[in-house]
Amino acid sequence: MSTAGETDRSPRAANRGEVAAPPARAEVSNWEIVNHYFGLAADRLEMAEDLRNVLRSAYREVQVQIPIKLADGRIHVFAGYRVQHNGARGPYKGGVRFHPEVDLDEVRALASLMTWKTAIVNIPFGGAKGGVNCSTRELQRSEVQRITRAFMDKIEKVLGPSRDIVAPDVGTDAQVMAWMMDEYGKLHGHTPAVVTGKPIALEGSHGRESATGRGLVYMYREAAPALGLAPSDTRFVIQGYGNVGSWAARIMQQLGARMVGASDADGAIRNDAGIDAEALAEHVAQGGTVPEFPGAEPVEHDELLEIPCEVFVPAALGGMIHEHNADRLAAKMVIEGANSPTTPHADEILNDRGVYVIPDVMANAGGVVVSYFEWVQNLQHFRWDEREVNDKLGTIMRRAYREVVARAQEEDVPVRVAAYETGIERVLEAARTRGYV
Ligand code: NAD
Repeated sequence: MSTAGETDRSPRAANRGEVAAPPARAEVSNWEIVNHYFGLAADRLEMAEDLRNVLRSAYREVQVQIPIKLADGRIHVFAGYRVQHNGARGPYKGGVRFHPEVDLDEVRALASLMTWKTAIVNIPFGGAKGGVNCSTRELQRSEVQRITRAFMDKIEKVLGPSRDIVAPDVGTDAQVMAWMMDEYGKLHGHTPAVVTGKPIALEGSHGRESATGRGLVYMYREAAPALGLAPSDTRFVIQGYGNVGSWAARIMQQLGARMVGASDADGAIRNDAGIDAEALAEHVAQGGTVPEFPGAEPVEHDELLEIPCEVFVPAALGGMIHEHNADRLAAKMVIEGANSPTTPHADEILNDRGVYVIPDVMANAGGVVVSYFEWVQNLQHFRWDEREVNDKLGTIMRRAYREVVARAQEEDVPVRVAAYETGIERVLEAARTRGYV
């Protein structure tokens, strides 16, 4: 791995062919990132090595072959994964990611993150994650459907409403969840509670689609007063204008904050006078890319971090704030919408610079909290209205924030360390009470 000092960090200079561009994502894996943060908290809790080994490793890791005949007649073999990390506190719970870079290491990391996340917000679930190494951008919708159904056929034996419940993540959406529920139902009868993030027409929950983004905004509202911020003087930047990023942006804008930068996999844009979050979401929903959006200036991906603002929301992939760019991040506060967006080295740089980081493992829990509400509604065959869902979400997110931040202040540690400590302690208590450890 090269050090920060070895490269000219200007992507513009790199584009002129003068030097190598800094990497878009860190060269450290998601598993290394999650393990590092787990280790910091385990050290503080003075946890013995044997216990660490139990809590680090996954209960079950399933890898399946998904051969699919694509539209061009070729058979392509995709790899599918489901990792059930820890079920001491309840059924395994976690999303399914469709992305070409998905591998066992990444799914394992994301599964363990779910274990700590569900414990931090104190909902009765364990942690799991799944994925298929396919690129939805390059596939026809009918091919995505066949991959989804074949994947479900291969993993259904380890799923169930009281065993393991799936949800959307990068590259999957409510439609993919509907196919998953339908496929599971062919074998087990109609079982809506095995999948969350479903369409409203198929027993999905009001407020689920916006939940992760809304949860990030609850975090902002809790943190802002201590940083002397009011929404009307808050400028924010969204990295990854997908489900999480675009909802966070729209709800921040409703509060009165102003979006000054945004990006997706195709590029980034900037407008200091403001970018309309609703209009950009509509543009993306119509199939447009972020850099094609009129009324803003296209900029290089890495320049997004340098846009002067109060709040930066990483909402794309893991490892995107790393040792080569963390010193250029201009925001006062980072609210981690993505999972593992900040590498350990970058986290140290941000801490040293006094940037306030609200970590993924708490900040982006809104999705799984409303998934929990969806599961409860499905089990009761009952439906709550959106206001009730949002209010209940707010109660849980605020409680988690206050508990974790109080602990961080008391112990004089970063919020991330206090969050992991809280999650790990709760999982350990459940495992001990069951007699597992
Ligand atoms: P999504 O697929 O809807 O959106 C991802 C966005 O990131 C897209 O706009 C994509 O173009 C963009 N992107 C990809 N590579 C990029 C790059 N190199 N630079 C800039 N943008 C890039 O996915 P999502 O559901 O919004 O998830 C985003 C992140 O939030 C992921 O890390 C996911 O694990 C995490 N997360 C999602 C949920 C949820 O409920 N969906 C919950 C918790 C955490």
